[in-house]
Amino acid sequence: MMSRMRVAITKKPAESGARSAPAGELKTACIRTFGCQMNVHDSDRMRRMILDAGLSEVQDYESADLVVLNTCYVRENAVDRVRGHLGQLNRLRREGKVKKIALTGCIGAAEESAELKEQYGIDLVLGTHNTYELAEFIGLPTMRETYTPNLPGVEGRHSAFVTIMTGCNYRCSYCIVPAVRGRMICRSMDDVLEEVQRLTAGGTEYITLLGQTVDAWRESGKRFADLLKRVAEIAPRVWFTTSHPSNMEDRTLRIIGESPSIVKRLHLPVQSGSDRMLKMMHRGYKSDRYRRKIEVFREEVADGTLSTDIIVGHPGETEEDHEATLRLVEDCRFDTAYIFKFSPRRGTEAAEMPDRVPDEVVQRRFLEVLRAVEQNALRQNRDKIGSIEEIFIREGRTRNGRAIGETWSGHAVHVPAEAEPGSYVKARIESAGPHVLYAGEPAN
Ligand code: SF4
Repeated sequence: MMSRMRVAITKKPAESGARSAPAGELKTACIRTFGCQMNVHDSDRMRRMILDAGLSEVQDYESADLVVLNTCYVRENAVDRVRGHLGQLNRLRREGKVKKIALTGCIGAAEESAELKEQYGIDLVLGTHNTYELAEFIGLPTMRETYTPNLPGVEGRHSAFVTIMTGCNYRCSYCIVPAVRGRMICRSMDDVLEEVQRLTAGGTEYITLLGQTVDAWRESGKRFADLLKRVAEIAPRVWFTTSHPSNMEDRTLRIIGESPSIVKRLHLPVQSGSDRMLKMMHRGYKSDRYRRKIEVFREEVADGTLSTDIIVGHPGETEEDHEATLRLVEDCRFDTAYIFKFSPRRGTEAAEMPDRVPDEVVQRRFLEVLRAVEQNALRQNRDKIGSIEEIFIREGRTRNGRAIGETWSGHAVHVPAEAEPGSYVKARIESAGPHVLYAGEPAN
């Protein structure tokens, strides 16, 4: 359960005009989160504001006075999906249930938000840089953090996300993030370490360092490897995401291999195996450089797992480009890949590009890449059968009575027992699928 903690509040008069909901009108709030870990993290911050304002959190729209939709803009149908929720909320409002609606996150920062606000009578629209304005809206004193990284991370008894940077200095052709989250801003090392200290002193076992390009973090001559090393000296278990191949130093890979507290899993998005496509996407590296990084990872991190992101069907992608991606998949032996069919995002360069790939071709290429990744993952996962693993329990009680955990190599494991989240169990791996390992009864 999340502990209740006050965030630092600078008390000064509200500067952006009285837009707050009438005091006392709001007693309950429901936050619905869409998309990535950054949004999960932002929702946790807003959750703390809601609790600090004396509202109770509820899980369903019907019992909520205030509903916050914290949105993601990555998928093509994202706005349609949010429209569906807004339609439902308006109906509930007419029935006298929901009183206020807030739209936050990436769609809140996008052009479409003005039209949505008008059409659905949304009470508060916030982007990704001014979530603090929710505080004012729900009757707290104005909070004026200069930028989001300075806010503390998520408190959980067992695991926490700690944002070390926000924004992104790249301009990938298909990505809306730089437009909605702005340029990179790094949090100071002292600030991050202080937060990690506080969390681990409070019993948090697992720290995940977060950022859109987490390995681009820097501060007066110090690079991400320096920060990671320091965090790994404090926290019992550490992971980080998402990395960019152009920023990934060999030194970081060596630290992953050497540090006993870092989970041996690297998520390094490649997007394509074709140099021509990588150039068109403005990724800033060639496929050979990516392969070299993976070689270093395999050398430095024994028993490590590797995951990536791949986009199929970016405008202009030919059969040769697709073949190059399949070759790279074969060479890198990914354990997992998040494969995306290209979908144009308004406001991105790729949305305006000619030479769209027909849907049926995209679907075929998607299945070919998926099959290649899964075959390899299954083969590698089967090699784990028979090994005894120390498993960190992330979810103790699922509907099917299994606990879900993670090995130090970063494999997801199902354990046929109830176990405390945040604890470790030792168990033998008895079978394997392409996405998960299955353990026997824990030995302890
Ligand atoms: S590096 Fe990542 S976040 Fe930045 S523009 Fe490219 S895809 Fe988007």
